Amino acid sequence: MADDRFHVYDTTLRDGAQQEGLNLTVADKLAIARHLDDLGVGFIEGGWPGANPKDTEFFRRAQTELDLKHAQLAAFGATRRAGVKAADDPLVAALRESGAPIVTLVAKSHSRHVELALRTTLEENLAMIRDTVSHLTAEGRRVFLDAEHFFDGYRSDPAYALEVLRTAAEAGASVIALCDTNGGMLPDELADVVHEAAGTGARIGIHCHDDTGCAVANTLAAVKAGATHVQGCANGYGERSGNANLFTVVANLQLKRGFDLVPPQSLGEMTRIAHAITEVTNVTPNSHQPYVGTSAFAHKAGLHASAIKVDPNLYQHIDPAEVGNDMRMLVSDMAGRASVELKGRELGYELTGEESRRLVERVKDLEAKGHTFEAADASFELLLRDTVDGERRRYFTVESWRVIVERRPGGDVVSEATVKLHAKGERIIATGEGNGPVNALDRAVRLALEKLYPELAAVELIDFKVRILEGTHGTDAVTRVLVTSSDATGEWATVGVAENVIEASWQALEQAVTYGLLRAGHSA
Ligand SMILES: [Zn+2]
Repeated sequence: MADDRFHVYDTTLRDGAQQEGLNLTVADKLAIARHLDDLGVGFIEGGWPGANPKDTEFFRRAQTELDLKHAQLAAFGATRRAGVKAADDPLVAALRESGAPIVTLVAKSHSRHVELALRTTLEENLAMIRDTVSHLTAEGRRVFLDAEHFFDGYRSDPAYALEVLRTAAEAGASVIALCDTNGGMLPDELADVVHEAAGTGARIGIHCHDDTGCAVANTLAAVKAGATHVQGCANGYGERSGNANLFTVVANLQLKRGFDLVPPQSLGEMTRIAHAITEVTNVTPNSHQPYVGTSAFAHKAGLHASAIKVDPNLYQHIDPAEVGNDMRMLVSDMAGRASVELKGRELGYELTGEESRRLVERVKDLEAKGHTFEAADASFELLLRDTVDGERRRYFTVESWRVIVERRPGGDVVSEATVKLHAKGERIIATGEGNGPVNALDRAVRLALEKLYPELAAVELIDFKVRILEGTHGTDAVTRVLVTSSDATGEWATVGVAENVIEASWQALEQAVTYGLLRAGHSA
């Protein structure tokens, strides 16, 4: 469990999910939570149970499907409604029953918002805070309070804003996070207000939005002024210009200010984790993102090449390995030999120097073509086995495939795929129908192979993501497809890259089935 003296609190699954164009399924949220836990954050806010059915479902499934090593889950919700008891408010009950040990309550701290948005009295708002916090703490939950619009509230009515803090702290809230909800603050003024707030004796947290481009700077300024709890989102996701980027905040505090926030080896996974999360969100990664972006340590060498070679530290602010990134002087994505060897070990292979050299070469070559292995472990393992065993284990070989997409009179669009395969000495031809070409291909492959490999019945294609990658250096754009499959015991992801989306999908599907058979313990 993380040290309680300083909190790293992630709100990707709640506030980050407000980002335009971002839409997370419950499975996506569970996957992101696992990644954040791998990073070692102390708290993961899962959403608003009771107000949002998907979030209620998230907390229900989290109880059996999430095995968190570092983080504790927080359920987000509002203080009770005006005029009812917290104990009788169904939304408060949903928080209580979410199974989360932490409840983060959002409360108004701006007097005009109390009157205009809540349409209640200032006194009743304080009573709502007092009652809800003390009810939930009496029920054994740890309560954090998000003081909404705190900085604007402080500017217009400082006495009331501070009264909200005191009330929450006295009622038992263990942290009061000051929210720059509009994101309009600059570091110097924000720090002054945080300092005043810390003077009340309440434990102060900070929650910043990036509307001025200062969310991270504001967070750091708040910490210097006394905040001991920082909130933010993976990759800076969030509404409008986003929330404070939690990765940048953590790296800054740990590497520049000496805070001991996450295990150093987890910090060394930060780049991988940041990218793995973008594959779940399907938001194109920001290559210029501090610390973890692919360009964060990329040098256009030119005149400096030889100097960089002699002493790269002259040209970069930290050793990129500390955050799991790499200095790059070339265009390819470059898997490091060390990470390839490490990954091989994780999969049960002790690679010789020669094997890892060959594997790194293949990974680099494929990544330059648009493959990504950070998010496609199964494809990496197949590649590793190819490299070590010579030729990939073939459960089947492909003679050909074909897909037809037909728009029928009336408007229905259907797809039909035919595959011709060889397996166990037989030539098999099978046809599958589906609502789309990939679905049809998937069905055709299963039909062809299920008699020979009945275990395939348990393998399911659960996710399919397509991204168009811009061409580099005069090449055309290519399509990358990531397929996630599952069986009774787990999930795995495979990747395909081609100019044609169906061909890219086929590559990912073929590997998905091969890997599924490998898991089922077949020897080809
Ligand atoms: Zn927010």
